Amino acid sequence: MLQHSLEIYNSMSRCKELFKPLHPERVGMYVCGPTVYGDGHLGHARPAITFDVLFRYLTHLGYKVRYVRNITDVGHLEHDADDGEDKIAKKARLEQLEPMEVVQHYLLRYHRAMDALNVLPPSIEPHASGHIIEQIEYIKKILDAGYAYESEGSVYFDVPKFNHDYGYGRLSGRNIEELLATTRALDGQTEKRNPADFALWKKAAPEHIMHWPSPWSEGFPGWHLECSTMSEKYLGEQFDIHGGGMDLKFPHHDCEIAQSVAHNGRPSVHYWMHNNMITINGQKMGKSLGNFITLDEFFTGSHPLLAQAYSPMTIRFFILQAHYRGTVDFSNEALQASETALRRMLDGWKRLGELKPSAESTVDVNDIRTRCYAAMDDDLNTPVVIATLFDACRIINQVNDGHATATADDIATLRDIMQTFLVDILGIRTEAAEAGAEALKPFEDAVDLLLNIRREAKQRKDWATSDLIRDRLAAIGFAVKDTKDGGFEWTLK
Ligand code: ZN
Repeated sequence: MLQHSLEIYNSMSRCKELFKPLHPERVGMYVCGPTVYGDGHLGHARPAITFDVLFRYLTHLGYKVRYVRNITDVGHLEHDADDGEDKIAKKARLEQLEPMEVVQHYLLRYHRAMDALNVLPPSIEPHASGHIIEQIEYIKKILDAGYAYESEGSVYFDVPKFNHDYGYGRLSGRNIEELLATTRALDGQTEKRNPADFALWKKAAPEHIMHWPSPWSEGFPGWHLECSTMSEKYLGEQFDIHGGGMDLKFPHHDCEIAQSVAHNGRPSVHYWMHNNMITINGQKMGKSLGNFITLDEFFTGSHPLLAQAYSPMTIRFFILQAHYRGTVDFSNEALQASETALRRMLDGWKRLGELKPSAESTVDVNDIRTRCYAAMDDDLNTPVVIATLFDACRIINQVNDGHATATADDIATLRDIMQTFLVDILGIRTEAAEAGAEALKPFEDAVDLLLNIRREAKQRKDWATSDLIRDRLAAIGFAVKDTKDGGFEWTLK
């Protein structure tokens, strides 16, 4: 099973090299998961789908993969630095909920959205708040190693000292001298020796509702710490792959590297992988720009920027039509093109089940499998896999139309290729009806709404409105039938 080599960009050394796991049969993989204080959006979908495909592919190649994706439920402050309110505590304050009620509410919704996108659950999904003891022990070791200091009940990582000994900011390519020149000391941060130092433990202000006891103060861990601690707990001091969005390279992942090197004397991660960002109509997503669209809004079409609903499989297919290191720009036109392309692919899948075998073959199907593996091995080149599967669809159509012939073996090979790459690795659900039904739901609700208005008009004996709605719907193509109980039924003629 292990004959296929997987090439992954090793951004630490900026060179492309063959993927060599630390253990010949097992792969450890850690991906930064969401901070659960709001509904899932496209920024959540892209890393989830990218690393889901990697998880599926490594598993397909025969590796036993332990995939850890964390849940950030404490310590992620508003400004990603060491100031501002905790994102979850703020939501809890605004909605008058327990912080863990906020986490539970949005985590359930996140899981539902991931299920809809056919993202497999990770092997372990640890919560930061469930690993406070481990994080305190981790800090103690960094303090003992001399790379952190206590100040006013908080503990900070000593960035200049680490930079002198090991180099800081290498993953993102930041220059620390430049960083120090551009970082001004902020009010309230005077307890840091250097503005670039980051918090490992923060003393909680009296109004802060999420805090735990520690040797230094009643407080909470810094955001970067949870990933170093939980990856080591579940994957060991060294592991194969660490993933996340490109926006996490700095400061989050450079801080993780600094923490684990200070803790263990060497880096933990063998390969870093970062997915690129998503823009909407060429703009960055942001609440203030009015283009912040949640996954549920995509699935139901209920956002002013959306021309229609898009099924979860359309979203998944669209994301996989771009290479994970390239940017993706969402627009109605691009999504509609993906919807049509996915329908063509699913038509091909369906037609495959109806092909009649011939004694002679005029097609070469084995070449398609080789090209699909080569594309996956080339740094997960999913757009090329999809283009190759369209070549398979072309062969299916030619055989179906009588322009080519395929043997029973050819047809079995095609079925195996589509099952392996489209279903098992790209994770596309092939039930076309399901994809269609979800997209149709708001449309059906709108027709029901019109017919309920018509029923109320009839009750008021407003025959003009009642007839108008029936006639106009008939003109578009709906057959409306009144039922004996005063209700209605409708079908598309
Ligand atoms: Zn992380």
